[in-house]
Amino acid sequence: MPDGAPLLKPRTLRDPAALVEAGLVPPGAEPALRRVAEHFAIAVTPAVQALIDPADPADPIARQYVPDAAELVTLLAERSDPTSDAPFTPVKGVVHRYPDRALLKPLLACPVYCRFCFRREVVGPDGGLLTEAELDAALDWFAATPQVKEAVLTGGDPLMLSPRRLAYIVRRLSAIPHLDIIRLHSRVPVAAPERVNEALVGALESEKALFLCVHANHAREFSPAAKAGMRALTRGGVALLGQSVLLRGVNDSAQELENLFRAMLASQVKPYYLHQLDRAPGTARFEVPIAEGRQLLRQLRGRVSGLAWPTYVLDLPNGAGKAPLGPDFAQEAAQAWLIDGPLDHAQHHYPVRKDDAQEAEF
Ligand SMILES: *Cc1c(COP(=O)(O)O)cnc(C)c1O
Ligand code: SF4
Repeated sequence: MPDGAPLLKPRTLRDPAALVEAGLVPPGAEPALRRVAEHFAIAVTPAVQALIDPADPADPIARQYVPDAAELVTLLAERSDPTSDAPFTPVKGVVHRYPDRALLKPLLACPVYCRFCFRREVVGPDGGLLTEAELDAALDWFAATPQVKEAVLTGGDPLMLSPRRLAYIVRRLSAIPHLDIIRLHSRVPVAAPERVNEALVGALESEKALFLCVHANHAREFSPAAKAGMRALTRGGVALLGQSVLLRGVNDSAQELENLFRAMLASQVKPYYLHQLDRAPGTARFEVPIAEGRQLLRQLRGRVSGLAWPTYVLDLPNGAGKAPLGPDFAQEAAQAWLIDGPLDHAQHHYPVRKDDAQEAEF
């Protein structure tokens, strides 16, 4: 660097021209990506940039965050709002679909914009921050709804709030007697780990059981800075869970999934859900068929710690809920169960217990 040159602070790349300049997409791709950018937000943070190898055209980090012209094509099977939040919104910012828990979405901004996101049509840098009055109305709804025992903060990404506003929300929720659990879902610990500072950890202090579900899809996302942030969170009393999406070209092999779940556990992150891709517009290139997903998880059973095993789920369209997709190891047969052995890969015959089948009496 020449003497006296200003030290350029790395910045978040937010448009196709910046991606070209950073060498993440070829100049010829810019016009098509400008059209993508009209529909879907773009953000690649410095922490994410540092993980990308621009010389690798199949880089699993780039694939998650760098836009692609394929996003301009919406297939018939793809739908906006694939999980149908809209009909389950009693007040702005709240989604109440399961009896005992409800989502609170205080903003729709994220540190990065994942190309496979199921909320991709609503998330963005300038959208969705609840006003103070709207936030208070949403918090009042939680206080007035005693069957709800768990508040799930999502968005957008709740760790994009200022620590002051986040602390306010956690304090208000903590004061509601019928709430037992506060849960947050966030990409910040891997995508913008510099935000995980003392003020943020302090904002999450609560008398209630507090879980932070970290969204990560590849082992390499666990950078030294990300790991340091997660350590600070666990020291601060936050229980960490992991949430991933099964993605073609990112984690679609038993080895990559093993690496990912091992990286999570090494940071005291318990893999919670592996999501089947939601069919949001322009995301077809990421889909791994369910049969293949079940096969991948089957290969992992027995090979990795039971702690590493997530529940593989599909969020059904029309708000019908998240359904586990297996794989299952047990099949019912006549008077017996046929059970696949995770270690010997053989089928075992396990008879149904019969009360009259006494062999001996003592
Ligand atoms: C996923 C989701 C939840 C949380 O479901 P869990 O299975 O408890 O993780 C709650 N509400 C809505 C609307 C959801 O989509
Ligand atoms: S961080 Fe979550 S909500 Fe935001 S773009 Fe990624 S998947 Fe979507």
